[in-house]
Amino acid sequence: MDHGLLDILACPACKSDVVYRANEAVLLCKAERLAFPVREGIPVMLVDEARSLSTDELSRLLAS
Ligand SMILES: [Zn+2]
Repeated sequence: MDHGLLDILACPACKSDVVYRANEAVLLCKAERLAFPVREGIPVMLVDEARSLSTDELSRLLAS
């Protein structure tokens, strides 16, 4: 994903920075434990499309 794009992306719910995980094709909001899908390289920054993560799942993804 373009680093310039990553720099400007923010969580639509809380405006905090998001973390990109290429292997899982997701953008993570650590504050709310949300995973936004990245489909064909395009981030889908919609809360309705985001997946809620358990604390363990978030830790695992952040560690990857
Ligand atoms: Zn958020």
